[in-house]
Amino acid sequence: MKTLYILFFFLNPSFFFFGQQNKICFTIDDLPVVNYGISDTNFQKNIFSKMIISFNKNKIPAIGFVNEHKLYTNDTLNSFQTQLLNQWVTNGYELGNHTFSHIDYNSSNLKEYTTDLERGELITKEILTQNHQCLKYFRHPFLHVGNTKGKADSLTEYLAKKGYIIAPVTFDSDDYIFASAYQKAYVKNDTLILKQIGKDYITHLQSKIHFYEKQSNTLFGRNIRHILLLHANLLNADYMDTIAKLFIDSQYDFINLDKAIKDELYKTEITVYGRWGISWIDKWALSKGYTKDFFKDEPTIPVYIENYK
Ligand SMILES: [Zn+2]
Repeated sequence: MKTLYILFFFLNPSFFFFGQQNKICFTIDDLPVVNYGISDTNFQKNIFSKMIISFNKNKIPAIGFVNEHKLYTNDTLNSFQTQLLNQWVTNGYELGNHTFSHIDYNSSNLKEYTTDLERGELITKEILTQNHQCLKYFRHPFLHVGNTKGKADSLTEYLAKKGYIIAPVTFDSDDYIFASAYQKAYVKNDTLILKQIGKDYITHLQSKIHFYEKQSNTLFGRNIRHILLLHANLLNADYMDTIAKLFIDSQYDFINLDKAIKDELYKTEITVYGRWGISWIDKWALSKGYTKDFFKDEPTIPVYIENYK
């Protein structure tokens, strides 16, 4: 019996990874869809469904952050758009508030910002309630949390009073830069470039995994439970399975946002403020006094992608 137990212990893969398994939460911003001007419903449905199918298949407990202005066409609620959100929630995925109009806190005051934020929670709340969930997470558009301590504190205080939990980001994928070029190539039916952009995006994510792991280890001596920022675009829809595989191959487990922010490292104090939209890793590093060297190996985006017309 004892021999059997020992054998099981060694055959169990968790033995080898115990205490070392990396963890990541997938967060998808700007729901329902970042369509870069293509309003065709089939196109949008395709993006949305592909993401959900991949989350189901890869058991990724994703959360989506909604801009409710996208649910309206000429001030009338568009049932196609609300159906997409319904589909998301009935498939078991969470939703959070990302303000109504994707308002920028750097160019608005607290009153303007919170008015927009409250306008952005109405339909999402309704859909979540119908599905026995509640709205609890908030993600700042552009990751702009307030460029001074006073401005940041007043919003944090407001969010806490409203019962919102802030959704930080530790892993910025830069996906929107690749996605914009990718969709242009898609529209032009430029299949060679389309494939190249996809390939370079995955290579970029791979480099970013190493980069953020290194940063986290330098800052904290271990890899934090990461929170990945992606957007609901065609590129991610087409590559979600590949992205999932990339993280699985790097020994990552997929966890929900609740579990991610339970990592005590999220309590790390932030003492510096600016107009930047940077990851929490970067904010913690600046707060701890790290300088240029800490950021120097950040993977760059191929020039042709930024210049693609
Ligand atoms: Zn956004």
